[in-house]
Order: sequence, then structure tokens, then C-alpha cells
Amino acid sequence: MTETDWERELYSLVNQNQQKEEHNEDSTLNKEFRYKEVNIKLKYLQASDSESVKLFHSVRKKNCYFCNTIKKPPYKMLKFRNYLIAPCESSVISNHFMVFDVNHKTNVKTTRIFDILLLAEKFKQYLVVYDGFDIVDNGKSHCFFHLLGQNSLSIQNECANTELQYKLHESQAGYLSIVKNKLRGVLVIKSKCKQWVEEVYFEIEKLLGRSYTLGKRPFVNVYCWLIDDIYNVAIIPRVVKNPTQYYLNRDKRINISFGAIEMGGLISITDESDMDKISKEVLMDMYSQVSYTYNHLQKIMVGINSNL
Ligand SMILES: [Zn+2]
Repeated sequence: MTETDWERELYSLVNQNQQKEEHNEDSTLNKEFRYKEVNIKLKYLQASDSESVKLFHSVRKKNCYFCNTIKKPPYKMLKFRNYLIAPCESSVISNHFMVFDVNHKTNVKTTRIFDILLLAEKFKQYLVVYDGFDIVDNGKSHCFFHLLGQNSLSIQNECANTELQYKLHESQAGYLSIVKNKLRGVLVIKSKCKQWVEEVYFEIEKLLGRSYTLGKRPFVNVYCWLIDDIYNVAIIPRVVKNPTQYYLNRDKRINISFGAIEMGGLISITDESDMDKISKEVLMDMYSQVSYTYNHLQKIMVGINSNL
């Protein structure tokens, strides 16, 4: 397929998806919290659960969502290398696609950075988002990514703001910085050179505790987008998947699963009562549990200069 065919195909998928989404929009239930450097949006999703939560439930029931989708496609999908691209039906973002590996992989040792960069090159109008783990079914997994319309997440603004960048390393090829914010620790790599981005990414993984011999990767959320051929890669190292509020009993529970989209600044609320439970402070507390602070991240990354 030529580039224009791709664009046409993708846009037709977007339109098909947007028509469905319009019925679900209820702006009166949306909220926004402004912290000094970051804005977090809360959007009500009129669905029992978001798509990613549904995925986990399907795996728990040993009824693989992706395999079922491949067997009986409920909608039109695009093929790209070993991946299929499908519109995400339950999402607060109208321009949202899932990209998933058609095959189950039994061994997920290799990093996803190569594919993340490749997708960003192919879909320049999109932001590529990786949750940091794959959907596992009986020890086998489908690698999957999100493709979101540019500027769907506030993390892109934080990374674009030069005043917020504390540079950890700089060379002719580009720079690595930490974004100054009180909510969660964010690392940013910016460069025109793909090889340099990969090199810096691997050094970050090592400092975060990658064990090559055990095949273990650190838990990170990754965001990648291109602006004028410059690779922008934001990384949020994670401590745990969800904060304690997620595991509380019924009335006290806050049903927010902290995936990469939530960490990037957009939270889907499926339970209306959660809107009242969330304050600026509660949200800050939840983010502090699932990620590192700016100061902590600075300490972890202290050795980066000597390795590059
Ligand atoms: Zn499967």
C-alpha cells in the first residue's frame, strides 16, 4: 500500500469509530485538575469498563480477546507487519487505535523500543503509547500498543515546554531530560538520530534495573511521537500497576486502572461516584504511589553520563 492509501484507510477507520463515540460523550461529567506544570483530565466513559480493562478480564477468563478478534473481526482492521490495527471501541479518545501482535509469543524478553519507534515513523500523525507489559494468556502474550491522535495527552505539552526540562545528558545527537513536575517522574529523550534514542533508552533500562540474564525488563510506560523528524520519547518508570485505592472495599474503592494513558494525563472514569471521591490531593497521592518522584528519578539516573 502507498502512503496515501494508508492515510485513507486509517481515516476511514477513525470516522467509523468517531460516529460511535459521539453518542457516549457527556461533557457535564468531565473534570480537570491543574497542577503547576501538569493538567490531568478526568473523562466519564459510558461503558462498563475501558477497553484495556476488558482485555484483562478476557484473559483472566482464558478467553483471549485478541485471538477472538482475529478469528471473528467485529470491525475492519489494518495489517502492518506482524501487527493488526483496530479502532478502540470503548475509549474517551475518539482517535484511538489498538495495535496488537497477531501471534502469541511465549518469550517476551526483547524490548519494544524498536517497534515503538517504527510505529511512530509510520504513523506520524499519531502518538504511540506502550503500557509496559503485554497481555498474557497462559504465559503467552500479545504485544500491544495504543495509537492516539496527537495532543490527546498532556504529557506532550510537558515535554515540549523547554522551561520544564532538567537536562541529564546532552550531546550533538540530542538530549535526555527529566520533566520538572510534582506529580510523577517523566524522562524525555529528543533526537533526530534513531540509533542514539535506542542507545539512551537501553541505558535508562539498565539503570532502572533491567536484568539481561534473567530476561527481565523494568516496568515503564513509553510515549513516542515525531515532530519535524525529531523523535520524542517520554518514559514513565513505574513502581506498581495500581494505587491502594484501587483495592479498597466497595464504597471506598476508586476504580481507576493506571495504564499509560492515565499516566499521560487522561483518566477514564467508568463509575460516576468516583468523580466525587477524587480531589486534587487524592489524585496526587495515587500518582505518587504508582510512579517515582522527580527527586527519586534524578538519583536513579545519576550514572547516565558515564555510560553514554
Ligand atoms: Zn491470544
